[in-house]
This record gives sequence, C-alpha cells and structure tokens, in this order.
Amino acid sequence: MWRPKRCQRQSLKRRGQCTKSMDFKQFIRTIPDYPKPGIMFRDVTTLMADATALKSAIDAMAAPFRGRKIDQVAGIDARGFILGGALAIELGAGFTALRKPGKLPWQTFSETYELEYGTDELHMHTDALKPGDQVLLVDDLIATGGTAEAGLKLLRRAKADVVAAAFLVDLPDLGGAERLKEHGIMVHSLMSFGGH
Ligand code: AMP
Repeated sequence: MWRPKRCQRQSLKRRGQCTKSMDFKQFIRTIPDYPKPGIMFRDVTTLMADATALKSAIDAMAAPFRGRKIDQVAGIDARGFILGGALAIELGAGFTALRKPGKLPWQTFSETYELEYGTDELHMHTDALKPGDQVLLVDDLIATGGTAEAGLKLLRRAKADVVAAAFLVDLPDLGGAERLKEHGIMVHSLMSFGGH
C-alpha cells in the first residue's frame, strides 16, 4: 500500500505526530506526464486512502466555516463529491451535486466551460437550491479555475449566495484561485504546488 514517508511509523501515528500541523503535501502522489505529457497529476486518492490524513483534511477544510451558516455544500463531479459530502456532514449542511452531462435525472441548469482542447459542461438540478441559500463550493483541486467558475455560475443562476470555495490543492501558477476571487468569493486551499 502507498504510504507517505513520515507516517509509515505507526508509533508516530498513535502519538498524533502525523496529524498536528499535518504536512498534507506528503500525502499527495504526483504522477508526471498524466494524462498527457507536461502535466504533473496531483493524485489526491493517496490522501483520501489514509484515515488520519482524510479526517485531518476535512477538519482543516471545515475550520474557516464552523459557526457560520452554511445551508448547502456544492461538490464538483467526482472527487468533489467525496470531500463535499464529508464537509456537508461536518458543517450541518445539505449536499448539492454539480455533475457532468447526462447524469442528473431531473431538469438542470448547465454551464459550458473551456478545457485545453474543447469544452465540457456541468449541470445542477434546477430545484437543488433555494434563493439566498448560503453555499460552499468544493472540489479537490483548482488549476485554471474553469471548472470551479462554471460551478459558481450554476450556483448563482439558482440565486444562491456563494460564501466561498474550498479545495485540497491549489496550482497557483495556473491562476484559478485569482480568477475565482475576481468573482468576489473567498478561496481556501490546504496546500499548493508550483507549476502545472
Ligand atoms: P481547472 O478547471 O483547470 O481548474 O481544473 C480543475 C479540475 O481538473 C479539477 O476537478 C481537478 O480534479 C482536475 N485537474 C486539473 N489539473 C489537475 C492536476 N494537475 N492534477 C490533478 N487534477 C487536476
């Protein structure tokens, strides 16, 4: 089983030394040239597979929003569902799915966004949110910000009040967090990696 170097020792884990001020980056597996040459794929499944790291990451992602009114956490297909579901429970909120085309059974709003080659779409049920709902947008990673921006537009079409967006990983060189901030929302991420 894949393990980060510092937390291989069970004695450290038991004493909590892998959880206090946890260095989340060591739990991310980087795969060069996936899915195509030049991309450094930041694989969050290795963090999610570690019970202690997953719990600490959810605690840290929830921390800025504890004590605030969050009605719904909106998670982006697909890794945003795992984090978003856990955060919804932590924050006492409901969960709204922002899905790829053809997955939601009821009427949807849709937003198209640019990929490096071509376009993609996100959909949300038209009745998923009530006007004025306080919503936290969640995904695993923000790169160019195109996906999260499409999510934000969907939430705003439903007249929701988007409080912030939260990610495990930010790739700041690709400018996505800045792009989201230009829409007037706060952006939180647990770690960042330079480059693509
Ligand atoms: P973007 O729309 O460019 O911000 O891309 C964000 C979406 O693409 C997220 O749902 C990520 O899961 C995925 N993604 C983009 N770049 C990477 C990367 N280098 N490593 C892992 N996932 C990525």
